[in-house]
Amino acid sequence: MNAPATAPATLRHDWSRGEIEALLALPFNDLLFRAHSVHRAYFDPNEVQVSTLLSIKTGACPEDCAYCPQSNRYDTGLEAEKLMEVDKVLAQAQAAKSSGATRFCMGAAWRSPKARDMPYVVAMVKGVRELGLESCMTLGMLTEAQAKELAEAGLDYYNHNLDTSPEYYGEVITTRTYSDRLDTLGHVREAGMKVCSGGIVGMGESQRDRAGLLQQLANLPEHPESVPINMLVRVEGTPLADEADLDPFDFIRTIAVARILMPASHVRLSAGRESMNEQMHALAYFAGANSIFYGEKLLTTPNPQANADMALFQRLGIRPEQREVDSAPAVPTPQFYDAAAVAH
Ligand code: SF4
Repeated sequence: MNAPATAPATLRHDWSRGEIEALLALPFNDLLFRAHSVHRAYFDPNEVQVSTLLSIKTGACPEDCAYCPQSNRYDTGLEAEKLMEVDKVLAQAQAAKSSGATRFCMGAAWRSPKARDMPYVVAMVKGVRELGLESCMTLGMLTEAQAKELAEAGLDYYNHNLDTSPEYYGEVITTRTYSDRLDTLGHVREAGMKVCSGGIVGMGESQRDRAGLLQQLANLPEHPESVPINMLVRVEGTPLADEADLDPFDFIRTIAVARILMPASHVRLSAGRESMNEQMHALAYFAGANSIFYGEKLLTTPNPQANADMALFQRLGIRPEQREVDSAPAVPTPQFYDAAAVAH
């Protein structure tokens, strides 16, 4: 859905932490009214983009992200899998296309792709493009040269999350720095790909940290096209397994402020939807979330059944957003596959 003609022409990239904290602290109804008004100025409020993600390489990641069951430092019972063969990935992409997908996304639990991996992921991108699908990947940190190689292969979107504020970041990850992450986002942009970047709420961070994460995202030279806002999934065996419950309204507040700061971006409900009831989903859509993951698995954590999402859409009068790809015919009942997620 394109922005209506009434949408303001300029987007801000100079938000102060204080301004964002003040938004987060607004009375709930005032915040939701403001966020929803912005949402309506830029998007059809009754459309939600529907996405899914194929894990092309699962587990055994050397990084220590404290929320992640794919880290090899934590015993979560996850069975590690090697990089999938290109043919198998393309068979999944073909199946996705047959079920109406226009975009196909692939995630690998790596610190960063190794030189020996690149020919395979490049072949996957090319194969997905040859099927007439848009392509997305999340593979960890990228060098400038790797970003260029992926862009030249035709990769449309790259996901790399900032996770939390610069100040809280060290509590969650020690094996890569915040500036490493910003560097990867810069390489992705410079190579001409679209950016998907967001974070996780509920890791014990303060409201000021949530403001810090949103400030980093909103003050990037260009807003990410997709902004996944994850709610921590407390996985047994990870350091954050016993983290305290998050006030659900604080999650909705984060969605609403993301919508206000990055009005033209898709704000995505990602990990943690399993523990959100229908009312919370509906509030999140009102607050400005307009993208979800659809399917049985979101990498390795449970995701609500797709048909439950469709049933709720019907009750709320929401339609899946429809997009067309140059080389693919429009289909009547599309599912959409998109990059992003919990990992990286
Ligand atoms: S989030 Fe990504 S980089 Fe961090 S441990 Fe998990 S798979 Fe590895």
